[in-house]
Amino acid sequence: MTFEDESTSPSAAPLSTQELCAWLKAELDIDAQSADEIGDGNLNLVYRVRTSDGSVIVKQALPYLRLAGEGWPLTVDRARIEATALSLHNELSPGGVPNLIHFDADQHLIVMEDLRDHVIWRQTLIDGSLPAGMGAQVGEITARITLGTSDVLVPADNRKQLLKDFVNPELCAISEDLVFTSPYIDSPSNNIDDSSRELAERLRRDSELFAESKRLLWAFKTQGEALIHGDLHTGSVMVTDGDARVMDPEFAFYGPIGYDTGNVLAHLAFASTRHDLLGNQEQVKLITEEALTFWEVFVETIAELWPDSEPWQETFLARVLEDSASYAATEMIRRMVGMAQVADIESLELPQRYEAKQRIGRNARWLALGRPVRTVEELWDRAIHD
Ligand code: ADP
Ligand code: MG
Repeated sequence: MTFEDESTSPSAAPLSTQELCAWLKAELDIDAQSADEIGDGNLNLVYRVRTSDGSVIVKQALPYLRLAGEGWPLTVDRARIEATALSLHNELSPGGVPNLIHFDADQHLIVMEDLRDHVIWRQTLIDGSLPAGMGAQVGEITARITLGTSDVLVPADNRKQLLKDFVNPELCAISEDLVFTSPYIDSPSNNIDDSSRELAERLRRDSELFAESKRLLWAFKTQGEALIHGDLHTGSVMVTDGDARVMDPEFAFYGPIGYDTGNVLAHLAFASTRHDLLGNQEQVKLITEEALTFWEVFVETIAELWPDSEPWQETFLARVLEDSASYAATEMIRRMVGMAQVADIESLELPQRYEAKQRIGRNARWLALGRPVRTVEELWDRAIHD
């Protein structure tokens, strides 16, 4: 399914909760009774709307970055990208994402299934309530939605159309800046405190790492291998016993598959490092298991989907693994000194927060500049090394 963004005005205002309920009744015949803003997100408004027989989630994109206020304009086309990606992801990995109920192009509104029994994966990793088997499920979903939009499985003309539908320059520019550029320079967008000052200063002098980040920026911009999620961290997955859903695909574009897999591994490494510093070895073991099975099931699913007519599956996987190490490294660095940070580390007290950032900075450098990784165990050992 594709959606046209037909709006003439890019400046839809936030709806009041009453307007939202009235709109849901009038347009979708949804018996909306009340709405509460629940978004802890950085970009959009997210509402939980109570109905006579349950609830739905409504997400509205405004023409600016919510986190930064109206001073940072941002295209509302991201709502179309997210809705189109959710619908496509549900075809490629049924039940792996929240169900899309409706997309309204005029008001940039997405109505979707309320995952009210689910919680954000990151939260369960932090508080030690991690349901088992989520890494495996996310590995399968990631394989299905990436390989399933790649040239390996999609006929060339369809893929070219997808490539067009998912041109996402403004959100890519955010990643290009915040992931690959700002952490290595003295940028006002960086978020530096006593726990990260030393690391930030070291990064600015590290010409070898800077060159590697530039190479990876080039690869991020030019390797349109598949429709990647583009923001696949543990805050973009909701989990409950036995069920993981990958959400929030507004950064989706044709990019390197290893960017998604590397992000998942980097964020699992944050959780593991947190628990290691707090002395929770049991949690480190559980998270390690999640990380390794994430990759294992990713590989198994690729093998299952891979066509016999393409005799280069091993080369493909070796390349995605190497890219995963590289993009895990850039993600680890940007979350230590860049604009958007992670609760796994920020909620630690000093001196552990300082120690975590030093360690993650060292490990990222080793991932980025050490000899290429050959196995996921090697990648993970470097990512969580103490
Ligand atoms: P943003 O794009 O602004 O970051 P998200 O899509 O990440 O917004 O949503 C913000 C928060 O809203 C999520 O962290 C989650 O708590 C909640 N949320 C979003 N979508 C759903 C959903 N389908 N079901 C339940 N909660 C949701
Ligand atoms: Mg989000």
